Amino acid sequence: MELPLTALHLDYHIPELSIPAFGRFDMAHYLEQLRRSDAEAVTLFAKDHFGNSFYPTRAGHRHRDLPCDLLGTAAAELRKAGKRVLAYYSLCWEKRAADLHPEWRQLDAENRPFGAEGPWGTVCVNSPYMEELVLPQLREIVEWYPVHGIFIDIAMMNPQGCFCPHCRERFRAETGRELTPGPGQRRFAAESMRRALRKIREAAGSLALCANASWGIGQPVEIADIVDFLVVESQPAHVSSGGYLLQMMQAKYCHADGRPFQIITVRFHGGGWGELSLKSREQLCYEFSLIAAHGGRVCCGDQGDYDGNLDAGTHRTLREAFDFVREREPFLGGRARRHIAVYCGEQGSFPFSVDELPPELPGMAGLLAGLNEQFEFCSSAALLRNLEHYAAVLVPGGTALPEAVRSALDAYVGNGGVLIREPSGVPEGHCYWEDGGETILLRTGYRPLELRDGDRVITGLRPPLVPYAPPGVPWRSSFTPPAPEGVPGAVARPRGAGLLIETAVPFSRNFWRTGDTRLLRAFRRLLEEVGITPAVRISAPGFDVNIVDDGDARERIHFVHYSAERNTMAGYPVIRPHTPFTCRVSLRSRRCPFRATLQPAGRNIPFSREGEELCFELPADTPYVILELEYQPEGEL
Ligand SMILES: [Zn+2]
Repeated sequence: MELPLTALHLDYHIPELSIPAFGRFDMAHYLEQLRRSDAEAVTLFAKDHFGNSFYPTRAGHRHRDLPCDLLGTAAAELRKAGKRVLAYYSLCWEKRAADLHPEWRQLDAENRPFGAEGPWGTVCVNSPYMEELVLPQLREIVEWYPVHGIFIDIAMMNPQGCFCPHCRERFRAETGRELTPGPGQRRFAAESMRRALRKIREAAGSLALCANASWGIGQPVEIADIVDFLVVESQPAHVSSGGYLLQMMQAKYCHADGRPFQIITVRFHGGGWGELSLKSREQLCYEFSLIAAHGGRVCCGDQGDYDGNLDAGTHRTLREAFDFVREREPFLGGRARRHIAVYCGEQGSFPFSVDELPPELPGMAGLLAGLNEQFEFCSSAALLRNLEHYAAVLVPGGTALPEAVRSALDAYVGNGGVLIREPSGVPEGHCYWEDGGETILLRTGYRPLELRDGDRVITGLRPPLVPYAPPGVPWRSSFTPPAPEGVPGAVARPRGAGLLIETAVPFSRNFWRTGDTRLLRAFRRLLEEVGITPAVRISAPGFDVNIVDDGDARERIHFVHYSAERNTMAGYPVIRPHTPFTCRVSLRSRRCPFRATLQPAGRNIPFSREGEELCFELPADTPYVILELEYQPEGEL
């Protein structure tokens, strides 16, 4: 199944309460909304977290109040209209199965069920649940309905591990040992999920298979190689993990990996799917644009109400936002230029929760996006595969380097690469960054750097005069203490043909904590000091940029503009309507295009060459414009 640009995820977790659900369900109105939003793919519910199915299942439980074959009717209508249809199936959250079959539940090491206090129970894929319920239901769906694929949600063994009798018995049979908490148990849980997904893959036959959270920053591969495309759920309301930055980071991370991927956001402001608020057109356009500009396919989540009905206003707004990105579809695709790699490493278990993201990652994304830098977020595999193509590699503070990555980076530096490492284990506290005539109060302590022969101090630090101890907090970030002796803030250590740069402070964590714009300037100076010049400069703030090569003869620069209101929703800024403006763009390029066109408007844009840069006046008429540069194939200057 080809993954289309726009998709709608229709969430239908509908419990069976004393008041009947679907009381005023109107199938004609429901189908009208699907036509109204006009997504090219739609995910319809086959079974929800409560264990209720939305089709007349024989193997499972049909929702008590279901008025019709909702899955079958909608799938047939959508298919007739040329849409792609996925059937949603909740795997490990299944209230009904957990209630009726306590022996199927995931248990912790003390034999307590997971999620018992929540609205749905958690069941184990090593129990008979798979053979008695999941696989027979999936076979029904495959056999009965004209769907293109299966969407598996909650492919999740609890991160602390499952110690149910089925897991214990299986582990004993496989290893001859008892199952105990630790790395062995985590490997076992991961392999259990892989085995379950392979069985599902087999049951799905020729249909496409995808799974939510099949890939994401910091997560080991686990099931990513079993599915047909990657799906990452990412919402700006996950504020502590980056807000809007998180969508960009996840998209960059997937793009660096190279497989087709879809990022799911939601129409709701809050992080909860059941919250029925509606983002503005502007906000949805911004989020969709960020995803599309970084090579992703866009999916938006909606939620049916307890009646099963959909909201017409929501689907009208979704249509406008889907159309906005579709207008840019002819100019999407290609390969992002590799300039700076941010190494994320595999920090978590599968599935990795965004709550676990270390602040250094969104902080680094914020720094680089704030500088309009061209960068990617890389897993170990993506980094090792493409290392030679990057001008610099950044390792944010707190990122562990596995042996294979460490030795590859040593070789990369030896061959002329630039590696910038932030320190780990920095104590809390304060210090002052001194550089370029500026003294910036930092909101972390620092790790002293050892100076060796041949090292070059590239900027300075001063410890604070008064050690941080509330209430002695420096009252203003611009406060400059009288000078004690400075210490190295960063050193450049020549290694072979390249440079290893070590900083005494984590810029990323500081930027995440303060958003101090002076840190942008300081970080830019640090990069330029070691020869990493920006791929593009823009005279106006607020752009996310992606330079994409489409073969030898064309490149496209995607500009997505961020304009935020002061008021916030769920802790993150609301996007305001875009006001057109013009700004100056300088692109570092050895080549000279024969034509520059603003897309999707199709307007010719004049340009000039100044030294190593191509200069344009960019009319940012809409929040997402694409500058298309066309070259003669032999167009080297
Ligand atoms: Zn288990």
